[in-house]
Amino acid sequence: MKYYIAVDIGGTQIRSACYRMNSQTPFMIERISTQGKESALDRLCMLVEKTWPTDGQVCGISVAAPGPVDPWEGIILYAPNIPGWKDIHLKNHLQSHFKVPVTVGNDANMAAMGEWKFGSGIGHHHLIYLTISTGIGGGIIMDDKLLLGQRGLAGEMGHITVLPDGPLCGCGKPGHLEALSSGTGIAKWTQNEIQKGRPSSLSHQEIITAKMIHQAAKEGDGLAIEAFNRAGYYLGMALADFLHLFNPTIIILGGGVSRSGELLFKPTRQAIEQFVIEPHYLDNFTLTQAALGDEAGLMGALALAQEYFPA
Ligand SMILES: [Zn+2]
Repeated sequence: MKYYIAVDIGGTQIRSACYRMNSQTPFMIERISTQGKESALDRLCMLVEKTWPTDGQVCGISVAAPGPVDPWEGIILYAPNIPGWKDIHLKNHLQSHFKVPVTVGNDANMAAMGEWKFGSGIGHHHLIYLTISTGIGGGIIMDDKLLLGQRGLAGEMGHITVLPDGPLCGCGKPGHLEALSSGTGIAKWTQNEIQKGRPSSLSHQEIITAKMIHQAAKEGDGLAIEAFNRAGYYLGMALADFLHLFNPTIIILGGGVSRSGELLFKPTRQAIEQFVIEPHYLDNFTLTQAALGDEAGLMGALALAQEYFPA
């Protein structure tokens, strides 16, 4: 029997899953907290060992890693949530430890691969995936190929400017899509409006999250509805730009905020129609929700392993 191992490194937990050849259901899956006594690299190796099959052969390991990654050298350039992770030569390290081929990619790119091969994007050749949660990341697949760019840093769609002089993004620059349409952006705006004296059912809350705003909007809270309309407006503005640049047949939205459904999708669709320069960009075009949830990164890593390391 031949196997693949897919690994997803998150800010809070690392998951390792072993798949039998031609299967998309993990045969073994283990998880461990990212932070701990041993280094994240040692914890990662321990975890992969735990999911190593006792019989047969592992054809390769594929890792979805947070932050910017050099996908050719398999180097994690920087991992925002793991202290001390800078220029980590993950591919070399794992290859010399496990003696099998290894590939490493950015987690949002991997999630795009997962949705393309196994989720909402099956059958599409020109696809854009965005994950909208505390931040905004994504991946672009054009002509059946993941777009990487010269250093593998392409597809950072959360950091395009939609409102110069707007609120500061997590990256420190002003007015990025992430600062306006991520869960963090939605929560910050709502909190600010309440501080200015705008009435809302959330005004007595000390900490406000996008999830709470979603609930309040469903119950008819005007400010909460406006928060999602605003997020959707800037998201749609950006998506119209992506339609002009890439002319995809599908844009898939994943991540926690995308689960708000029509509350976010309706204003997003309206803004796309408002900003698109030519109606033909909307021919055969679908804006839809992701299908794989938290599994997208692992499934994408599996897809890449199957492609790179055929059994
Ligand atoms: Zn930014």
